[in-house]
Amino acid sequence: MSETATTALPFDPDALREKYRQERDKRLRAEGNEQYVEITGSFAHYRDDPYVQPIERPALFDEVEVVVIGGGHAGLLLGARLREAGVQEIRMIEKGGDFGGTWYWNRYPGAACDTEAYIYMPLLEETGYIPTEKYAKAPEIRANCQRIARKYDLYRDVLFQTQIAELRWDEQAGTWLVSTDRGDRFRAKYVCMANGPLNRPKLPGVPGIESFQGHSFHTSRWDYDYTGGDDFGGLTGLSDKRVAIIGTGATAVQCVPHVGASAKQLFLFQRTPSSIDVRANRPTDPEWAQSLQAGWQRHRMENFSTLTSGGVAEVDLVSDGWTEIIGMLLRRRPDGKSDFAQTLEYADFEKMEQVRARAEAIVNDPDTAEALKPYYRQFCKRPCFHDEYLHTFNRPNVTLVDTQGLGVERITERGVVANGVEYPVDCIIYASGFEVGTAMERRAGYQVYGRDGLALSEKWRDGVSTLYGMQSRGFPNCFIIGLSQVGTSANITHVLDVQSKHVTHIINHAREHEVRTVDVEGEAEEAWVQKVVNASVASLPFLESCTPGYYNNEGRPNGELIRRNGAFAPGIMAFSKILDEWRGEGSLAGLEFSRR
Ligand code: NDP
Repeated sequence: MSETATTALPFDPDALREKYRQERDKRLRAEGNEQYVEITGSFAHYRDDPYVQPIERPALFDEVEVVVIGGGHAGLLLGARLREAGVQEIRMIEKGGDFGGTWYWNRYPGAACDTEAYIYMPLLEETGYIPTEKYAKAPEIRANCQRIARKYDLYRDVLFQTQIAELRWDEQAGTWLVSTDRGDRFRAKYVCMANGPLNRPKLPGVPGIESFQGHSFHTSRWDYDYTGGDDFGGLTGLSDKRVAIIGTGATAVQCVPHVGASAKQLFLFQRTPSSIDVRANRPTDPEWAQSLQAGWQRHRMENFSTLTSGGVAEVDLVSDGWTEIIGMLLRRRPDGKSDFAQTLEYADFEKMEQVRARAEAIVNDPDTAEALKPYYRQFCKRPCFHDEYLHTFNRPNVTLVDTQGLGVERITERGVVANGVEYPVDCIIYASGFEVGTAMERRAGYQVYGRDGLALSEKWRDGVSTLYGMQSRGFPNCFIIGLSQVGTSANITHVLDVQSKHVTHIINHAREHEVRTVDVEGEAEEAWVQKVVNASVASLPFLESCTPGYYNNEGRPNGELIRRNGAFAPGIMAFSKILDEWRGEGSLAGLEFSRR
């Protein structure tokens, strides 16, 4: 590094690098992903659905054309595109009691989306709906999911409160045998796995969780019977309660202000502070909504994804924290004196200095303010945007228990132990996130057996292997809507939309040409895997330097595996272009078809 170039900087890069390294090292744990408790056995009740009464229904033994697993945004988009293509027999399968996926489960007070609603909420032009504010809250997003399901008639053949037990390919019949936890055993010509990446809640693996005598729940199963209130707060049931929240990720950041406002006392247990930037939500301007021209949503989505992947656009239509941060990081070009990596690093230091200064400016107690400052690079963790979270620490009834990167030590019958001190509480709320790095079949909750009985998890033992992230050789007529080996975006529904159209294109082709099976050629799959791995070469040193979290396999980014299982680094716009060209070329290169 040329220190002459740093003399005018308002921060000391060497000192920050060293501080980031120290903070990271404090948090590295030998157990990695094993530190979390799987919600199963005696913990299984943490996954129970608090929002609906269980239903009874007879088991099904019939045959349908397409099964879509998951009723969240991925499944809904796929269902919508398949309907547009004229597919009548679509059976949606969802473990919740209605559509919505993550928005069905996450109903904690304050839940909202950090991505602008006008680009995040899918199919707005198709359904004729305009969100009420720039950042929609969970009930509005959930209602939009139901609106999509109604519009595309996806309630017609949906199995709610149903979990897949197994998918098994039957070569002779050329169909999938689908078994569920309801005793169903039906067949499907095509199966689409759209079960979502963050669907299985996890608990911190600290001793004594089972011994706690008070009340406890995970944020994705919020217990309003206990807390009172609703998605918008007003948690009157907590007015005489001492409450512990464990975790300070994007979920905690949104529910803490409401719990802080209602509880007699709130202890927030922090291992790593989140980066909290400005949110600046505002109601939708009706005049602006009136002025929108046909095609506006796609145009806006693409404008956002272009800018947030380092591309150039004449205007920044969304103009929010994401385009500002990523734009600031990516659009800085080398000045001729320093290299690009260093320019990026300095832009990151500058941004994070702003975030740290914001904590200092808002939080009155200097020690608390200091503990709330994140010392890592911006995209080591999910950035958060909130205008009330930091203010909550100025309330007399709210205490930040900073565990210096170590986490809570123990749970006792009476409460939570951290830094050697027991905090007695009436209720523990686990804002401890969702499984990410665990085995695929554990997260999905089912196993997939393809040709010759090969399990997908077995095939992927040494890493994910797909063509464009959506098909894997040996698993004919099976499609995956996920985040591995696909180009991504901070606007995840853009990614799901691109994938839904691609899968629909292939299914449509197969239907029109009376195809029996569609599979992937081995060479095409290998070439794509290699392309994904090569494209992510630059990400490894960055991930290694990051504070632990689910982005870097809890601080242990295992070389090629994380590159292979991760996204296609150039992002959604580059990925869409590849798929557009592939479809445009017309030969469906890399696919293997067998005829009836
Ligand atoms: P996260 O995995 O992001 O956060 C889990 C939290 O639990 C972290 O703060 C983690 O600390 C903490 N934790 C784990 N173990 C312990 C322990 N032993 N002691 C103390 N703390 C512990 O889960 P979230 O539910 O917050 O978010 C998951 C994802 O969902 C987000 O990353 C985001 O993608 C999405 N989301 C988006 C929202 C939005 O759009 N606004 C809102 C909510 C979620 P550490 O950081 O040290 O690991």
